[in-house]
Amino acid sequence: RSIGRFSTAAVAEDLITPPVQISYTQHLINGQFVDAASGKKFPTHDPRTGEVIAHVAEGDAEDINRAVAAARKAFDEGPWPRMTAYERSRILMRFADLVEKHSDEIAALETWNNGKPYEQAATAELPLFVRLFYYYAGWADKIHGLTVPADGDYHVQTLHEPIGVAGQIIPWNFPLVMFAWKVGPALACGNTIVLKTAEQTPLTALYVAKLFHEAGLPPGVLNIVSGYGPTAGAALASHMDVDKLAFTGSTATGKIVLELSAKSNLKPVTLELGGKSPFIVCEDADVDKAVELAHFALFFNQGQCCCAGSRTFVHERIYDEFIEKAKARALRRVVGDPFKKGVEQGPQIDPEQFEKILRYIRSGIQSNATLECGGDRLGSKGYFVQPTVFSNVQDDMLIAQDEIFGPVQSILKFKDTDEVIRRANSTRYGLAAGVFTSSLDTANTLSRALRAGTVWVNCFDVFDAAIPFGGYKMSGIGREKGIYSLHNYLQVKAVVTPLKKAAWL
Ligand code: NAD
Repeated sequence: RSIGRFSTAAVAEDLITPPVQISYTQHLINGQFVDAASGKKFPTHDPRTGEVIAHVAEGDAEDINRAVAAARKAFDEGPWPRMTAYERSRILMRFADLVEKHSDEIAALETWNNGKPYEQAATAELPLFVRLFYYYAGWADKIHGLTVPADGDYHVQTLHEPIGVAGQIIPWNFPLVMFAWKVGPALACGNTIVLKTAEQTPLTALYVAKLFHEAGLPPGVLNIVSGYGPTAGAALASHMDVDKLAFTGSTATGKIVLELSAKSNLKPVTLELGGKSPFIVCEDADVDKAVELAHFALFFNQGQCCCAGSRTFVHERIYDEFIEKAKARALRRVVGDPFKKGVEQGPQIDPEQFEKILRYIRSGIQSNATLECGGDRLGSKGYFVQPTVFSNVQDDMLIAQDEIFGPVQSILKFKDTDEVIRRANSTRYGLAAGVFTSSLDTANTLSRALRAGTVWVNCFDVFDAAIPFGGYKMSGIGREKGIYSLHNYLQVKAVVTPLKKAAWL
């Protein structure tokens, strides 16, 4: 069942694919591209068609062991934690410059393997990637401890030391940006890394890791293993020689990796997990602008954002007008080949996510939410989903509770501020929230009352490198980006020295 006519035909015909080829498909361990220990490979796909575009080394526990051994040696004996912070900073900057130089090609590879619009990858995500590495390069030589006033005749100082070997597991929705959020701060602090990419999107991390070595990164400092979660991912999370784990993905998998850490060496774990973020449109909002922002908050990146504004709460006074306009906007959304100019929405990542989204749409229809537009796949090949809008959504419906991770907007009606605060907070998640209002009072009241790691007021998805990001409740543990992320990758050592000759000496 599908409602509405979609604007795929409006897409300009010219393709903007820059030349790109897949050069790196092996693991990167100790500065060398190597096959999997087992010799196994797995296919990676183009979500526009489902066609296989490459076969990639498939890592398991043995590859993780090799990568961790390389990272351990590089940390315990290699130059990276021992060189001056200024030298480390220069390598990070050189890397960022190389990525910038190759950014058209890297963006094309990201689009090819992930399906996101090329224009989005090239004009937003690659610049953000470069910015994140410059930001953390800037921090590298500004990390230092404190002098602590202590009772008695002691001089006390804290040393902020790198934590050691960092294990990092990233998802497929922003393969490059997630790489930067994790690798940037870990390297700035002098750690070494084993990173496992998502099985859906292994290609761009390998490409940029090659550039890192061209920039002068010593071997063993950054190791990349491709492979599946329950094999390679679980081996990394439970490895006894990994000193810290950073994970982004689903809440269910977050619980698994936390447990794997607890059952192995109790490595500290930061988790960036799912969300069901409210986007609250207040009575005094400019409806046209609110519709546009709410649309962006949900549909950006094919709806595949952990912080997507996936519960659009609209004040009853403007509700009917908002619904009409939100529907019209969704119908205008340009869905199609992500390499074409003007395309706003490409395919979903894979058949599992595609089917899951269609199941949630059916659940919305069965629970009597009103399907305003969309409701089905688009076209007959690849994983394209029609931009879908439900109105009359109730809090207890599955589509208002679960993370759909697709282009499905759920609109809910509210009457007053206290009510919307209570309803917005009544979720197991707490990643982000959006507030749209022209009243400073309302903005202040809501932004303080909402239990979420980020509250965007009259804006959404602002991801500057300096802004911390992370979740309350089951959306995660800890913060990434900004100065906060450095703490994830540092140990604090207190050094206590007598100020004068101690009595027992
Ligand atoms: P996932 O959590 O299974 O995968 C994320 C990463 O974890 C991948 O690298 C994966 O290989 C790894 N992983 C999976 N199982 C593991 C295990 N047992 N041990 C260690 N690592 C493991 O997510 P998914 O299956 O790709 O997507 C499922 C849902 O997760 C999505 O529909 C969406 O709701 C959510 N999701 C959230 C984010 C986010 O940014 N918060 C990103 C991707 C997916």
